[in-house]
Amino acid sequence: MTKNECSGIWVFAEQRGGRLDRTALELLGKAQELKKNTGEEVTAVLLGSGVEALADTLAHHGADRVILARSENLKAYSARPYQKVLTAMCEKYKPSIFVFGATAQGRDLAPRVMCSLGTGLTADAVDLGFDEEGAFVQTTPAFGGSLLAHIAIPELRPQMVTVRAHVFDIPPEDPDRRAEVILEDVSVEADGDYEVMEAVEKVPGGVSINSADVLVAGGRGIKSEADIAMLRELASLIGGELACSRPLVDEGWLAHELQIGQSGTTVKPKFILNVGISGSVQYMVGMQKAQTIATVNTYDRADMFAISHYGAVADYSKLLPAVIAEIKRRKQ
Ligand SMILES: Cc1cc2nc3c(=O)[nH]c(=O)nc-3n(C[C@H](O)[C@H](O)[C@H](O)COP(=O)(O)OP(=O)(O)OC[C@H]3O[C@@H](n4cnc5c(N)ncnc54)[C@H](O)[C@@H]3O)c2cc1C
Repeated sequence: MTKNECSGIWVFAEQRGGRLDRTALELLGKAQELKKNTGEEVTAVLLGSGVEALADTLAHHGADRVILARSENLKAYSARPYQKVLTAMCEKYKPSIFVFGATAQGRDLAPRVMCSLGTGLTADAVDLGFDEEGAFVQTTPAFGGSLLAHIAIPELRPQMVTVRAHVFDIPPEDPDRRAEVILEDVSVEADGDYEVMEAVEKVPGGVSINSADVLVAGGRGIKSEADIAMLRELASLIGGELACSRPLVDEGWLAHELQIGQSGTTVKPKFILNVGISGSVQYMVGMQKAQTIATVNTYDRADMFAISHYGAVADYSKLLPAVIAEIKRRKQ
C-alpha cells in the first residue's frame, strides 16, 4: 500500500482470555500524542470472541475508534488466523501507522502481517515520534544496545513497529470518553496444523518483575547462590521482588524471567536497588525509567552510579546484612 492511500494510527489491542495486555493501553496513550502531530484518528484493533466489553476500556484510554474482528476461531491467539484477519483489516481500512506491543504475541504476529502486506517493520522500539520533515520515526537500540537507531519507512504503508512494554505510561482513564465501534464478523478458519489444548501463564514467584513497584536486582558482583537468598530476603522485607542482570541467568542461578535489560524485561518500578551491577547499556536500557534508583557497588566509578539517585560504594556482603538487620529491628 502506498503513502497517498493510507491514513490513521492503529494500535493492536492484544488480549488474552478477555484481559487486555497493558501495552495496548500504553500504546493508545502514545498514539494520542502522535495524533497531535498528524491529526489522524487513533484506532484500536481488537480480535477475539466475547470481548465486546473491552471496547469501552480502549475508548477510555484513548481509542477514537475500535475495530473488533469477531470469530470463535479468534478466541485464543493463533498466529495464522490472526495474521489473515489483520492483513484483511489493513487492506480494507488502510492505516498509515500500525503499532504492536513487543510482547510474545506482538513479536510473533507483527512480522507475519508485515510480510503479507509487503511493508516495513521496526522491532523493539523504545520511542516513537516525527522528524523535522514530518516522517514517522521509530527509535530502537542497535549494535547490542550501544547506540540508538532512528528508523523511518518512507514509502510503504502501513509503517509497522513493535514497542517494548513500560516505555510509555498508561494514560489516565477517562470514563466519559467514547469511541466509534465497528464490528467485523469475520469468517476465518482455525489453524488445522495444531490445536492449543491449554494455556498456562508462567509467572515466577507470583509477581512478574515488570509489574513490581519495588525491585532488588543482583549482578555478577554477587558471589554465591546463598547471597541471592539474602537479596530475596531484602526484597521481601521492603515489599519487592528479586530481579537480576544477565550474568546471573547465564550462571543458571536465576530464571530468564527475572532478567532486566535489552534481551530481558523492561521495568519501570518506583524503586530499584542494583547490587553488584556495573551498568552496561544493555542493562540500563531496561530500567533507566525507574523513579528512584539506588546502587551498591565496590567500584566508585561504576556507570550505574551515573544514573543513580542514591549510591553506596561498599561490599554488599558487609552492607546488606546490616541493612536487613536494621529493617527487621524497625519492623519489630
Ligand atoms: C546483545 C546483547 C544483549 C544483552 N542483554 C542484556 C540484558 O538484557 N541484561 C543484562 O543485564 N545484560 C545484557 N547483556 C550483557 C551486558 O553487556 C553486560 O555484560 C551485563 O549487563 C553485565 O552484568 P553485570 O553488571 O551484572 O556484571 P559486571 O559488568 O561484571 O559488573 C559487576 C559489578 O559488580 C561489582 N562488584 C563486584 N563485587 C562486588 C561486591 N562484593 N559488592 C558490590 N559490588 C561488587 C563490580 O564492581 C562490577 O561493577 C547483553 C549483551 C549483549 C551483547
